Order: sequence, then C-alpha cells, then structure tokens
Amino acid sequence: MAKKTKRKLAHPKLPMQRQLNLRHEGKYFDLRPIFDQLNERYFRGRLRGYKVMWGRRRKHRPREYFIFGTIQEEDRMIRINPSLDQPFVPLWFLRYVLYHEMLHSVVPDETVSRGRRRVHTEEFNRRERDFPSYRRARRWEEENLARFLR
Ligand SMILES: [Zn+2]
Repeated sequence: MAKKTKRKLAHPKLPMQRQLNLRHEGKYFDLRPIFDQLNERYFRGRLRGYKVMWGRRRKHRPREYFIFGTIQEEDRMIRINPSLDQPFVPLWFLRYVLYHEMLHSVVPDETVSRGRRRVHTEEFNRRERDFPSYRRARRWEEENLARFLR
C-alpha cells in the first residue's frame, strides 16, 4: 500500500497507457513476459489480445479457499491473485498458474447436465498434466496453501 502511494507521488503525471501497463508489473514478478513466453511455447501464440494483470489486493486473506487466478473470456482478461507476488513463490509455480488460466481459453467447457458447465474437463486435465512442472506445482500448492489462507 505505502509503496503504491509512493510510486504515484513520484510520478504524478504518468500518461494513462503507462499507468495501465504498471498493472502487470508486480513487486517481484512481471506477468507480461511470463504470459508471452508461455503463449509462444505452449499455445503457438494463439492467445491474442489478452491482458494479464495482478488482481486487487484484499484486505483479509481468505479462510477457506484461495483463488490463484481467473480468466474472463469476454474481455480477454487474466487476473492473477496479488498474493502470489511474493519472493517465496517460485517462478515455475506462477508460470503454472498462468498456464492453467491460459488453457481455459483454448479448451472449451462442457455442459454436464442442464445448465451445469464443467470447465475442468477431461481434455483440460490431460493438457494441464502435460505442463512440465505440473506435478511439482501441485505439490507446492498443497504444501504452501496455508500461507495464503488466514
Ligand atoms: Zn481452472
């Protein structure tokens, strides 16, 4: 919080574009180059026009579950939980989180029963497991989840 204020004071007249760009830059990780690299390597550059940004910081950590990232197809927006912008978070874990959200944009949902959609389909799960650090990332997630919860 204090950091953000400082930055604003130091550059009171940033052009709008620059201000928007800042939002993919965290304190420790810049999401943009991570996204671009994953897009080239695993999706043949297929995800076009996507914005990737750190979500809003919450006042309180959640109690029950933690949402690492979200994707909104309508406005091609991927948001990553800003709690992941911390030095103890391995880059390969952050890459996995981004990959997961990106995969949603290329693997279609399925309707399971009336009105019920399944987003983590068989195909989705299979392609997710193909990600090189998948197992390591899931293990890290299990072992470190408590650090993100209250
Ligand atoms: Zn998902």
